[in-house]
Amino acid sequence: MGRLVVVSNRLADPRKPAAGGLAVALGEVLRNTGGLWFGWSGAIVDDARAAEGSLRIQQAGAVTLATIDLCREDHDAYYAGYSNGVLWPVFHYRLDLANFDDHDVEGYRRVNRLFARQLVPLLRPDDVIWVHDYHLIPLAAELRAAGCSQRIGFFLHIPMPPSQIFAAIPQHEWLTRTLFAYDVVGFQSRADLGHFAGHAGCDAVAKRANEHRLEAFGRRLHAGAFPIGIDVDEFERLGRGKEARDAYVTTRDEYARRRLLIGVDRLDYTKGIPQRIRAFRELLTHHPGNRHSATLIQIAAPSRESVEAYAGIRIELERLCGAVNGDFGDLDWMPVRYIHRNVARRRLPGLYRAARVGIITPLRDGMNLVAKEYVASQDASDPGVLVLSRFTGAAEQLTEALLVNPYDIRGTAEALQQALAMPLAERQARHDALLGHIREYDVHRWCADFLGALDPPLAQALGHHARERRRRATAPPA
Ligand code: UDP
Repeated sequence: MGRLVVVSNRLADPRKPAAGGLAVALGEVLRNTGGLWFGWSGAIVDDARAAEGSLRIQQAGAVTLATIDLCREDHDAYYAGYSNGVLWPVFHYRLDLANFDDHDVEGYRRVNRLFARQLVPLLRPDDVIWVHDYHLIPLAAELRAAGCSQRIGFFLHIPMPPSQIFAAIPQHEWLTRTLFAYDVVGFQSRADLGHFAGHAGCDAVAKRANEHRLEAFGRRLHAGAFPIGIDVDEFERLGRGKEARDAYVTTRDEYARRRLLIGVDRLDYTKGIPQRIRAFRELLTHHPGNRHSATLIQIAAPSRESVEAYAGIRIELERLCGAVNGDFGDLDWMPVRYIHRNVARRRLPGLYRAARVGIITPLRDGMNLVAKEYVASQDASDPGVLVLSRFTGAAEQLTEALLVNPYDIRGTAEALQQALAMPLAERQARHDALLGHIREYDVHRWCADFLGALDPPLAQALGHHARERRRRATAPPA
């Protein structure tokens, strides 16, 4: 069996619970193959020479973690500039927020080349390489240029926009060509896959051998939809932990006379948080029975504060929340609790469980894992209701949620009202169906399906490991 090599912008130590479901799933596969995880350390050093000599290799159990530092100039152009100032907004359909600057794309290329240069000496001939996300689109092309012939796959965690939007990126032809250096390219949803295939067909004049096979630039590419999931068991374990239970009891007691709605997001302009606050305001305006009762807890974890487009949203949100509280609040009731802080993952299941409504309304999102975590945290005998934007990858799977158009403030407010008033039997039926999807398409299935497309023998061997893990977990004690 070959070894799995994961490459991503940042790494997480898969042994730590704060690492999240993705790191847990990748960690399991990496452990079972004695794999390697390569990425940026998060450190910024003074000059390019220091970055070049910064490779650090650490052992985390059976997994090797290899990191490099970046110099300030490269970091600013690659991370804040091209990745988060061009690719992130455009891939989320926000051409108005993109800052096209030739200087940044040069830094993006330099860092991808640096990643390739540092990674190549660590590779073995039978490695299977899995590259993650928009920071590293041209990495396979750089690895191929350095002589790598291993199987290389790429998974895009964010949405893939339609051709007309993607083509606004001045370097779109180059980006498309570099994607064909991979053997497999995976997307979050069938809609994203359709956008890519449509774009490759017209822009790269790719031939489409079948639904998944594209041929262009002398290469064959397997393109597929692999919706990412959560590790349901891991999340349920977190939910049984002390911190989640404490969060649940405290929140339930504190809001015993209220009905809670919860939103949990990074503070990002793609998440539709201002529209959500407006919809909540609309709910209080048009359904006054909710006054002194409905309370929205909105957690907005600080994110990418060095990127210019993020500066305004914090001020806008504080103003919107302040206005709702000022106009509707009373001595004993504040309609909105806005928390601009990261809440530890270990506490989140308790907060989700205490909320009657999970309100997840991004303007555009590759998948949205919070939606799945909210469902997995509910008490099946008295579950809450998920109100979900139809513009998330999750909406393609979670069709039993109340799907809304987040730009339609009145429509979203009506969905909130429907969620708050939903009878128990309907809540249970919807929750049961949603949990079924989330269990079936969990993060282990995502991993197995992607690797199955990339390297069937590796996936088969890992499938054996996974079955063993399940057998051991369910076997009665000897
Ligand atoms: N999260 C967290 N604390 C917070 C806010 C979010 O631990 O205060 C976690 C959340 O549980 C989820 C992840 O961050 O696992 C967010 O993933 P999602 O796919 O919803 O959005 P992204 O931030 O990747 O765009």
